[in-house]
Amino acid sequence: MTPSICCRCNEQIRHRAVCSLGKAYHPHHFTCTECGLVVDPRLFFAVDDDVVCGECYLGHHAARCSACRTPILERCFSAVGRKWHERCFRCVSCSKPLISSSFFDINGYLFCKKHFREQFSPRCAACGEPIEDRAVVALATKWHVECFRCFICRQRIITGGFRIHKGQPICLACCQPTTIALSPQNLCAL
Ligand SMILES: [Zn+2]
Ligand SMILES: [Zn+2]
Ligand SMILES: [Zn+2]
Ligand SMILES: [Zn+2]
Ligand SMILES: [Zn+2]
Ligand SMILES: [Zn+2]
Repeated sequence: MTPSICCRCNEQIRHRAVCSLGKAYHPHHFTCTECGLVVDPRLFFAVDDDVVCGECYLGHHAARCSACRTPILERCFSAVGRKWHERCFRCVSCSKPLISSSFFDINGYLFCKKHFREQFSPRCAACGEPIEDRAVVALATKWHVECFRCFICRQRIITGGFRIHKGQPICLACCQPTTIALSPQNLCAL
């Protein structure tokens, strides 16, 4: 029987050899190519046909979860160029799993449809709730269509003119030109 040659030091292996990846090693030369530490032959990772210890593998080679930032060793879920643990693919606001529902990715943070709208939709100046569809915009302020009411008589302002006075819409009927100073910039048509 021909004696084995250690692929790391090229010396003959007289006693126990570690055989792995088609090569032989002295047990004390079965080392991680990245950190140089001796590796347990039962617990190592092969990278480019070479030996890498568990810690270096987790540190340099395993994909990281976009949510918890730890390496992904089990099944992962990928979308929009990022990867997640399946258990981490959930809304950051309500923790609802999003694997089979629509989701929104904001800088790596995932939101369900409801919480995306809550966080990122403009808010109605009257009721404070998010505006999901049509908004009435006057000056820099937005309202739900149904919330756009005269500040004085509480009637909805559907057609016709209105004035914005101190950030509040006021219908023409309630306008008293003597008390409300109007300038052309304050007027905004629907
Ligand atoms: Zn050796
Ligand atoms: Zn290592
Ligand atoms: Zn994770
Ligand atoms: Zn949610
Ligand atoms: Zn509203
Ligand atoms: Zn009014």
